[in-house]
Formats: sequence, C-alpha cells, structure tokens
Amino acid sequence: MPDHEIPKDHPRYLSLTIREAIIKGMHQKVVAEAGLIAHGRGEAFDYLLGERSPPFAMRQQEFAVLTMLQAENPIISVNGNLAAMCPEETVVLGKLLNAPLEINLFYRSQEREQAIKKTLIDAGADIILGLDPDYQDTIEELSHLRRIVDSRGISTSDCVFVPLEDGDRAQALKRLGKSVVTVDLNPLSRTSLTATVSITNNIIRSVPEMIKITKDMTLLSKTELKKRLEQYNNEKLLQEALLFMSERLKALATSDLMLK
Ligand code: ATP
Ligand code: MG
Repeated sequence: MPDHEIPKDHPRYLSLTIREAIIKGMHQKVVAEAGLIAHGRGEAFDYLLGERSPPFAMRQQEFAVLTMLQAENPIISVNGNLAAMCPEETVVLGKLLNAPLEINLFYRSQEREQAIKKTLIDAGADIILGLDPDYQDTIEELSHLRRIVDSRGISTSDCVFVPLEDGDRAQALKRLGKSVVTVDLNPLSRTSLTATVSITNNIIRSVPEMIKITKDMTLLSKTELKKRLEQYNNEKLLQEALLFMSERLKALATSDLMLK
C-alpha cells in the first residue's frame, strides 16, 4: 500500500478520500488553491451535522429538485470543487433534469477550464457550456472575469443550480430574477441566505440523493410540481438546519463526550 493510501478501516475514510480527490484535483489544475480552503470550511460544518444527511436536508433536496423540474431552462454551474468531488453524479443529474452543464469559475484560467472540461467529458458529459468565446455574455454587476457567462446557459436560464458558490455571484444571479439553487454546508453563508433553495448538506451526499429524488419525481405534471412546491419554505428549512446543529451540539455537551 503506498504511503498516502487511506486504509479502508479508518473511521473517517470517506472524508479523507474526498480530501484526496480535492488535492488530486488541485494538482491537475481542476481545483483552485482557494478551493482547498473552501472545502475545509465545509468540512467543519459537516462535523456539526454528524456527517450524515438529516431529515431537513432531504426536504431541501426535494425542494431543489421540484424547483429545477418546474423551470423552463434549468442549468448546472460547475466549478473546480464540484468537478473534483462528484463529476459522474453531476453529469447524471444534469441529464435527468435536462439541465446542461456550464463551467463557471471564480478563479478563471484557460488551463483550469480545459482541465475541468476533460474531467466532465471523462465522466460522460456531452455538451459543456461556458467555454466558447462566441457565446460570451456578462453579468454587469460583477467585476472582472467572474462576470462571464454563456449566452446559451446561465445568461438565459431561469433556474441556476450553483453548488459551493460565492455569495456575490449568488446575489447577482438572484437580482437578475433567476431561481438560485445551491448546496452549501454553511447555513449562514451569504449564498445560503440569498438562494431560492439552499441545501445544507455535503455535496458528496447531496448529488446522489438528488438523483434518486429526481427519478421519483420526473413524471410529475407541472400542476403537481407546483402544488408540491407550495409545501416548502427556504427560510424555515434554514432555521431547521441551524436548530438541528445547535440541538445536536447541546446533546453532545450534556453527554459522555470522550472517546474511549
Ligand atoms: P459566502 O460567499 O456565500 O458568504 P464564504 O465566502 O464563506 O461564503 P465561499 O468560499 O465563497 O465561502 O463558498 C464556499 C462555500 O461552500 C462555503 O460556505 C463552504 O462551507 C461550502 N462548502 C465547501 N465544501 C463543501 C461541500 N463539500 N459540500 C457543501 N458545501 C461545501
Ligand atoms: Mg465567499
């Protein structure tokens, strides 16, 4: 076994495997250096969830799938961390939801764009938006390269799935009148507090769970989708996420805490 290989019986095997995927992604130029820091922040919140998907997260994921199924032109915005952690699952979800993938980066460079494109193609993607200069559009209120979007994708879409997004961009998309669906382990990030649907869960669990939910819901009529959507409230679900974390901490604080 090479030195860096993670033993399968390690109690935190999954978390360490994901960390390896992110580090490998950085060496392949898929992940930006800052992506490592963002991942670490997410991991801290996942500890508060108990590294499982709580019931409120399952409801947030149903809300997300319903929102995307109801949209006219949903799109999935892919960044380096998403491509490094769950490329195959993202491709499958896109196909099920009829949502194209658009590469949209905070730290943009041609090298990263090409590395992410290769990762997605290897994972089974057909069409990838966001790279063709002939279809470049801009989000006026954002500065520098972060503003570039695809005129066939995010620019004209009514519903953008932007997991692991920065708050500024989530806010800009929302101000353009789009539904914004995100996955962000921090329920207090600006992204979570801005989005139309915020999923407080680890992306590594969330995308596979959303695939299952989509398969269950894909045949629902537009009327049924609309009716079901009325049962969800993003702010209430975020409040539930905060309550879950605080109650879990409180239970731990009054229990036999130390590992034997
Ligand atoms: P914001 O800009 O929204 O206020 P931020 O500046 O704190 O947030 P960013 O680096 O802009 O953070 O965005 C990354 C977000 O993604 C963080 O909130 C982090 O908790 C979250 N995150 C990181 N890794 C994961 C993961 N594996 N699953 C879900 N969320 C994650
Ligand atoms: Mg940010």
